[in-house]
Amino acid sequence: MVKLILLDRDGVINKELGAYVTNPVDFELLPHVVPNLIKLKRAEVLVVVITNQGGIAKGLYTHQTLTQIHQKLKMALDEHQLVFDEIYYCPHHPEYGKCLCRKPGSIMIEKALARFGVTPQEAIMIGDTQRDVDAANAAGVKAVKIESNQDWSSIIDEIVAH
Ligand SMILES: [Mg+2]
Ligand SMILES: [Zn+2]
Repeated sequence: MVKLILLDRDGVINKELGAYVTNPVDFELLPHVVPNLIKLKRAEVLVVVITNQGGIAKGLYTHQTLTQIHQKLKMALDEHQLVFDEIYYCPHHPEYGKCLCRKPGSIMIEKALARFGVTPQEAIMIGDTQRDVDAANAAGVKAVKIESNQDWSSIIDEIVAH
């Protein structure tokens, strides 16, 4: 039984632009996100966002701007009485120093599992890059790779049916 869904952000929750989202205006929530979060809430499945935001290390935007972007996201969900259980992001980029958290590293995923007391077998990751899949697998979590901006409703339908 799935207790925790791990979602990549860009290309899964908001429209992948082919560039970093550097301000709230460029953050466009994908249309299937709210309906799927409603289904997951009904099924009492936790939802955590796991995102690399290396644009912060590159100086393209700040932690504060990322907070504003996520505030826009939270407000959009709040209209539907929805909330992410947590958002974990890695602000680092290998060109500007190494870190342990950036996907395909699994630390952010392991943090989520520990925080919510969920085993790897009880979690599933949805991402649009191989990095997402590798990060999940490194934590022992199964992952589904979608195309960027693809509707992932069928994955959720299958999860909540079980
Ligand atoms: Mg992505
Ligand atoms: Zn990091």
